[in-house]
Amino acid sequence: MKKIIFALIVAAMGIIFPAAFRTMHHTSCANEQPNHSSFIIPHSSSLIPHSSLKPPIWGFFAHKRINRLAVLTLPPEMMVFFKPNIDWLSDHAVDPDMRRYATKNEAPRHYIDLDNYGPPFNNLPLGWTDALLQHSEIFGITEQGDTLGFFGPNDTGNTMPDDKKQAYRRFFIRQILPLYFTAQETVNVDSLLAFFSEQGCTADDTRPFVSGFYRDYLSEHGILPWHLQSMQRRLTDAFRARDAKRILRLCADMGHYIGDAHVPFHTTSNYNGQKTEQHGIHGFWESRIPEIFADEGYDYFVGKPEYVPDPQAFFWQAVFDSNSMVDSVLGMEKALSKSFPTDRQMCPDVRNGKPVLAPCRDYSAAYQDVLQGMIERRMRAAIHAVSCAWYTAWVDAGQPDLSNMNAPVATEAEIKEEEELKKNYQQGKILGRPEDH
Ligand SMILES: [Zn+2]
Repeated sequence: MKKIIFALIVAAMGIIFPAAFRTMHHTSCANEQPNHSSFIIPHSSSLIPHSSLKPPIWGFFAHKRINRLAVLTLPPEMMVFFKPNIDWLSDHAVDPDMRRYATKNEAPRHYIDLDNYGPPFNNLPLGWTDALLQHSEIFGITEQGDTLGFFGPNDTGNTMPDDKKQAYRRFFIRQILPLYFTAQETVNVDSLLAFFSEQGCTADDTRPFVSGFYRDYLSEHGILPWHLQSMQRRLTDAFRARDAKRILRLCADMGHYIGDAHVPFHTTSNYNGQKTEQHGIHGFWESRIPEIFADEGYDYFVGKPEYVPDPQAFFWQAVFDSNSMVDSVLGMEKALSKSFPTDRQMCPDVRNGKPVLAPCRDYSAAYQDVLQGMIERRMRAAIHAVSCAWYTAWVDAGQPDLSNMNAPVATEAEIKEEEELKKNYQQGKILGRPEDH
């Protein structure tokens, strides 16, 4: 009897949500990220990774520099609080990269594989809820062990009547969205059944699903521009509350992610040249070149921050601009590697106390030249964008007085957490994609 009822339910749901229904095996849902390794080691004309070394940690140098220089652009009303904390904001510009050694949820915040969605990017939802809604799938597991999927990314929703779409959206916001932030994937089966029941597709005393879960397909391709939107809101709240500690933490983190958004390799699935035999080009572009040349001649004068009326559009523009440069940064290195003497492309160097081979100074200079100042321009754009985001949050919070806020004191738990973070970084293996900082 149960089977018949269940079949009826399934059929009913199939009618209501025709394109949303399909079956699949539970275990095939897991998505594994390929574990590419890290720093640049030479091999004829290509840059080969070396697994025993940490990735170049925009590298640590550029992230710290971006946060420091962003502080110096702020108006006096903000400077009064930010200047005394400039060292902290600079030092902690790299915390998000360190967290990648502590939790696998951290990595997707640093990148977005835009090539997964376009061009053109017409169907890419710019808001977080819409994006997660479109790229998540809900599964119910039956007593018989069958796994049934609903509302997956293959379902464009076009076949769903509008009122059902709205009902699903409400269910999703209430039941699924909060799960993302807890990294929990189990869906409350009673809520799931209640939702189907509300939609008129369940039978009274039967329980067709014994458990439920959801999968988001967004994370595997990165969530950077969406994450920035949520950080902007949180930072605005922190200013509103005049919470010095939260302001500093969020500003340091935002500076990092905005920096990442300005790097072409943080916006493509070919994030380390692995698809074009240019392994290591990520660190070459964002770490090696700034480390060699930034102090020698980069112009960091970016002017005062401007108010950003639409942060969502602002953050998306940053990643779209970065993405528009991907072909050039790859193509130019490829061409250069063919014309430049092979034995003068990689040189011995020391990194994190270990001997490595890294792009030679002359080769780096040649790459920088063919890029015609692109790296300097992106670094300047990042500094300006960071100060604009901080400034906008402060303005949106009503321009609170920052002049007499208590200096934040770290609690014992926070000090411990920071030590733990450093320890994980020193010893640990990066969780998730390694070459995106
Ligand atoms: Zn990063």
